[in-house]
Amino acid sequence: MPTRNELWTKVQQLLQKNLSKPSYETWIRPAEFFDFKDGCLTLLAPNSFSSDWLRKNYSHTIEDIASEIYGHDVKVYIKVKEEFPSNKSNKKKTFSSIENNSIATRENLDVKSKQAPVKKILPGLNLRYVFNRFVVGPNSRMAHAAAMAVAEAPGREFNPLFICGGVGLGKTHLMQSIGHYRLEIDPGAKVAYVSTETFTNDLIVAIRKDGMQAFRNRYREADLILVDDIQFIEGKEYTQEEFFHTFNALHEAGRQIVLTSDRPPSQIPRLQERLISRFSMGLIADIQAPDLETRMAILQKKAEHERMRLPRDLIQFIAGRFTSNIRELEGAFTRAVAFASITGLPMTVESVAPMLDPTGQGVEVKPKQVLEKVAEVFGVTEEEMRSPSRRRPVSQARQVGMYLMRHGTDLSLPRIGESFGGKDHTTVMYAIEQVEKKLSSEPQLASQVQKVKDLLQIDSRKRR
Ligand code: ADP
Ligand code: MG
Repeated sequence: MPTRNELWTKVQQLLQKNLSKPSYETWIRPAEFFDFKDGCLTLLAPNSFSSDWLRKNYSHTIEDIASEIYGHDVKVYIKVKEEFPSNKSNKKKTFSSIENNSIATRENLDVKSKQAPVKKILPGLNLRYVFNRFVVGPNSRMAHAAAMAVAEAPGREFNPLFICGGVGLGKTHLMQSIGHYRLEIDPGAKVAYVSTETFTNDLIVAIRKDGMQAFRNRYREADLILVDDIQFIEGKEYTQEEFFHTFNALHEAGRQIVLTSDRPPSQIPRLQERLISRFSMGLIADIQAPDLETRMAILQKKAEHERMRLPRDLIQFIAGRFTSNIRELEGAFTRAVAFASITGLPMTVESVAPMLDPTGQGVEVKPKQVLEKVAEVFGVTEEEMRSPSRRRPVSQARQVGMYLMRHGTDLSLPRIGESFGGKDHTTVMYAIEQVEKKLSSEPQLASQVQKVKDLLQIDSRKRR
């Protein structure tokens, strides 16, 4: 059991892994340990704003984690530092009065009487990566269903389950959800989560120290083994050899294996044939980039979790700008929230847009310039783009124009619609999605878009 202030340090360490960097740096790191007694952990926030924020958004999480570490329920109190000069006698007095006033309630009694069963959590699993925080969209439906099935009945249907998809699309989240859920169903299950890098490092250490038996026991004892980012096994002959045997031992014993990778087994270079065939013998489920609606649902869910209410057009705005990586999408959201709360500005498209330049270069583009350059590259006139014409080159150019305005300017969807002769915002949304979809399958369009982008940057790069 950790000593008094070690508890907070441990909670901080876990949160650091589980929160985005800006959230951690803004809210968690500055909070200082003050006291831990009778299951009450008291923290000092630097100011009242920060203490309100912590109380509202993080106290439950902190309580969950601290309880987990401590082994009993922990209640968290957050006070403002200025009100607690380091003078102890003063501290005592203020304290008890606060406790007496505000917390001698049912809630407090409940906490004392109810020793909630401590949920088993595997070290190494991120507390946020659970199924009910995973938003299922058309892009991830099958992978999600397979992951649920595997957690419910490991070793049966899909063995191995091979989840593949691009960076930041939720592979690790889904994989760890399987682990959490399995432990929830069966707290005695032996679940192992390991990155391919760790597997390789452990192997090297085992070889060096002649600890191969211990290594094998550790990995071959699991009922459910989750190996993340298996593509990193590429070209590592000895690791592949050992992994092949581990895989076989587990598979033959009917244990469940789950792998993730940024590409399907057959496309991992320098991967032994026999591993390709092992990896492909269960189910390969892929996760694609989410569409706009799913991205909005992800932000919406995140906002709900942080107990925030964001205007819909802001959610749409952020979701429209970060299209191919959910990690970046979340990062943008967190930056927006932190920015608004630090500056005290309202959470609107106008106030947070400057924070959210996905290129990170502070490029500011004027709508007029977008129209101009798109017209030039696509061989149509600006006038035509603003007209109702449905002629193909015109509608193509118009869609690209809308797409680029979304990505290059701070305009909201309705405002973009206005720039094109008063089109409806749903038309704009549809146009953006069309372009996003076509970009990966129509190289000519992709190169035209790139050309406009290049032109815009040369013409209008401007530091904010
Ligand atoms: P990958 O392992 O594919 O690179 P991660 O699983 O690490 O991606 O996901 C990146 C971030 O995006 C994580 O914070 C994760 O919680 C979040 N995320 C990804 N997919 C979803 C989803 N479908 N619903 C909610 N959050 C998601
Ligand atoms: Mg990952």
